[in-house]
Amino acid sequence: MREVTSIPISAVKLGEAEERLAMEVIRSGRLAQGPMVERLETAFAQLTHTRHAVAVSSGTVALVAALQGLGIGPGDEVVTTPFTFVATLNAILQVGATARFADVTDEDLTISPAAVEAALTPRTAALLPVHLYGKPARVDVLDEVARAHGLALVEDAAQAPGAAIGGQPVGSFGVGCFSLYATKNVTTGEGGVITTDDDALADRLRVLRNQGMRNRYEYVVPGYNYRLTELQAAIALPQLERLAELDERRRANAEALDQRLAHVTGLRLPSVTPGQRHVFHQYTVRVTPSSPLGRDNLAEALRVQAIDSGIYYPRAVYDYDCYRENPQLVIEPMPVAEQAATQVLSLPVHPSLTLSQVDRIAGAVCTALGVGPPDR
Ligand SMILES: *Cc1c(COP(=O)(O)O)cnc(C)c1O
Repeated sequence: MREVTSIPISAVKLGEAEERLAMEVIRSGRLAQGPMVERLETAFAQLTHTRHAVAVSSGTVALVAALQGLGIGPGDEVVTTPFTFVATLNAILQVGATARFADVTDEDLTISPAAVEAALTPRTAALLPVHLYGKPARVDVLDEVARAHGLALVEDAAQAPGAAIGGQPVGSFGVGCFSLYATKNVTTGEGGVITTDDDALADRLRVLRNQGMRNRYEYVVPGYNYRLTELQAAIALPQLERLAELDERRRANAEALDQRLAHVTGLRLPSVTPGQRHVFHQYTVRVTPSSPLGRDNLAEALRVQAIDSGIYYPRAVYDYDCYRENPQLVIEPMPVAEQAATQVLSLPVHPSLTLSQVDRIAGAVCTALGVGPPDR
């Protein structure tokens, strides 16, 4: 019997460059935030074309610190997407602000600028869009909305380092918040980065990150320990250097999946907007009512073939008991997000995927949905 290797939804590939830098840190004896973290910050500022990058201990902390640094707290409303990882919402709650939702567009499941405008109230202090699956949200439009109404714009770019609109990197439209968690496009296990052009904000973030200390034992605000370690920075740096190449492989895999799945009725393939650079953190299809198999049954059919898939996300982010009754949330029906939650299925698209694995994934999807391979 032929051994069938399983295809994971994400894969961490670290090499000699990461080993070399990690060894450099170990030999240096300096483990807490230092020169390697500074190198990572410089690389992130270059990636996002921003003046400042501030490394912190996670993507969630990046969001919390960004909101704190902007002075957002109790009494303020933050307008965000109902279709995201829970960290986006938890960050808003953590700073004491109120979350109000604006539904996503059916086209790409990122927050709808029109819905954002409709959700504004006199208490709105910030907009918090998410670059879902590595596809830019319309932060070019949201930047104009934010400016017109005097609001802060915070981008949850956890899934999208390297993504861009018209050549302008995400994380440079508003305050960029990135994650270096284990499954993200650039990973160091746990970590985060905030990007901004605002000198004063960058300074506040650096102070907040380090117990509110500007100079040694000179405390200017009550702060926190949000610091990243040297070892984590060492592991992330080489990946950042080859990010363009890694993204290229993600995009090539996405294109190969598109070609092999375009003829399948009942599947909606990921939308790509002209002028946008999508970095395919996930390749997410929608299993529509015209599919002979429901989403969960398709996932099960793939699992039997040793192909991992993911449901990001199975519910609208507020649709849990712990949020339903929470006074810090303003919940209204979000029909597009709620429907998407029943349809989305992410297929492997990571850079280590081979073309024969892409064939296997597409073949398994076609078989499960009762269609032949595409004419090629
Ligand atoms: C991963 C993720 C986060 C949180 O990042 P952590 O590093 O895990 O704290 C926030 N928002 C989105 C959309 C994410 O995917």
